[in-house]
Amino acid sequence: METVFIGQDEVPDLLPMAQCIEAVRQALADLARGEGIQPLRPVMWLPEKVGALGMMPGYLGSIATMGIKTVTVFPGNAGTEYDSHQGTVMLFDAGNGRLKAVIDATEITAIRTAAASAVATDLLARKDSSVLAILGAGVQGHSHLRAIPLVRPITEIRVWSRSPDNAARLAAAGAGDAAIRAVGSVAEAVGGADVVCTTTASSEPILAGSLLEPGMHVNAVGSSVPFARELDSDAMARSRIFVDRRESTLNESGDFLMAQADGVVDEDAIVAEIGELVAGTRPGRESDDEITTFVSLGLAVEDIAAGDLVYRNALKSGKGFSFEFGGTRHG
Ligand code: NDP
Repeated sequence: METVFIGQDEVPDLLPMAQCIEAVRQALADLARGEGIQPLRPVMWLPEKVGALGMMPGYLGSIATMGIKTVTVFPGNAGTEYDSHQGTVMLFDAGNGRLKAVIDATEITAIRTAAASAVATDLLARKDSSVLAILGAGVQGHSHLRAIPLVRPITEIRVWSRSPDNAARLAAAGAGDAAIRAVGSVAEAVGGADVVCTTTASSEPILAGSLLEPGMHVNAVGSSVPFARELDSDAMARSRIFVDRRESTLNESGDFLMAQADGVVDEDAIVAEIGELVAGTRPGRESDDEITTFVSLGLAVEDIAAGDLVYRNALKSGKGFSFEFGGTRHG
């Protein structure tokens, strides 16, 4: 059988955000129920940490698929012609090992990460959340702008980024009927917001605990390495903490590990994995006053679930190109 190759330009049409949210929701629940496999990801850093190659394998029984995302991360690419995250998602048939698809990872990463935040927001934010703050106006800022309004009745959006021009560009992209504006400070963006998404590549905290207000929900997305964080220790201490995966958080999350080193949180501070909330085995928000924070690291099972959706939509619509790549004996 042929392997399907799907490039970056084709992925967005094949991975509608609303469909991706449901695929990621299912994947997180499968993982929490023990119906998925997801080892920690090896990350190979180049000297001076100018760039990294991450290898993210995983398996989902519900779609009988295993796969791997190989992703390069070059933060210095921001503002150049190159994306800061590039790579491939490869999908293999879990019944016979056949390589089913090779898909661009840049768009999958952009879309599935915001989809995971949307799942967390759907489960944890107050139902009447209407004001959204987005901190960071890069790729993730853009995809979170599309994702969060799909799960809450957002009417007002504030965008802050280190570069005011980038914040203005993101605000100009608009978001349906919601009023959207760029603002000049994190405090201006966050004050009175119901949902806050931190999507920057900053290694120093940009969101201080003193800015958090009762009832807020935070999606902490931008830090996925132990040596960078966007939330200060006070923000972590004031939050009820939810994660995509406990093991990943305890090994990879700068937001968590640095707060732990400061002595303000410990492992017991992690209330639940998002998949456990989907599966209904643990409760989520318990009052309108508590501050909930979703610590997102990004999981291979999210890439595999999203990749599988891309693959199936490509087969239906005839997108991508296919050829006999190998793996079968002829004659
Ligand atoms: P981009 O390169 O597209 O955007 C980077 C953003 O970070 C820009 O808004 C930039 O601001 C901002 N930024 C960079 N350095 C600083 C700083 N020192 N202080 C404040 N803001 C800063 O990256 P992406 O949007 O693709 O990714 C953003 C972050 O999310 C990265 O750290 C990435 O590793 C992480 N990520 C997490 C995933 C997950 O699953 N949790 C998945 C994918 C990415 P400006 O340009 O306006 O100056």
